[in-house]
Amino acid sequence: MATPAAPRAFAEEGRRDTRQRRAVRERLADSESFISAQQLHDMMRAGGDKVALATIYRTLQAMAEVGEVDTVRTVDGETLYRKCGAHHHHHLVCRNCGLTVEVDGPSVEQWASKAAAAHGFTDVKHVVELFGLCAQCSQ
Ligand SMILES: [Zn+2]
Ligand SMILES: [Zn+2]
Ligand SMILES: [Zn+2]
Repeated sequence: MATPAAPRAFAEEGRRDTRQRRAVRERLADSESFISAQQLHDMMRAGGDKVALATIYRTLQAMAEVGEVDTVRTVDGETLYRKCGAHHHHHLVCRNCGLTVEVDGPSVEQWASKAAAAHGFTDVKHVVELFGLCAQCSQ
C-alpha cells in the first residue's frame, strides 16, 4: 500500500517534468536546423535552462512518437530533431552547417503509393531525406 506522501511526491515530479518539457519544446522551436539532443542540451545550458540530457532525450523521443517533431538519421547513425511544418514533407539537410529546407516530393509520393498498391500493402509510410552541402557551404 502506498504511503500518503507518495502521491504528492509523484505529482511534483510530474510538474517539474512538464515544465522541462515545455522548455525543450520552446528551445527546439527556435532552431531552423536539425539538431541533436546533445546540441539542444548545450543550447539550453547556455541559455540558463538546467534540464538533464536524459530528460531532453525522453522529451524528444515522445515528441517524435506523436509526430510533433521530425527526425533524421545522419550517416553516422546520430538522430537529429527539428520542429517542422505539419504537412507531410521531405528534407534537404546540409551536412556541414545543418541548414534544413522542407521540400515536397510529388513523384516520391506517387511512386510510394504505386509500389505499395502493387504488392497489396496498406498504411505504408516512407522516409526520404536528402543530405548534401547547401549553396553557402558549396562555395
Ligand atoms: Zn520536417
Ligand atoms: Zn551548409
Ligand atoms: Zn513523402
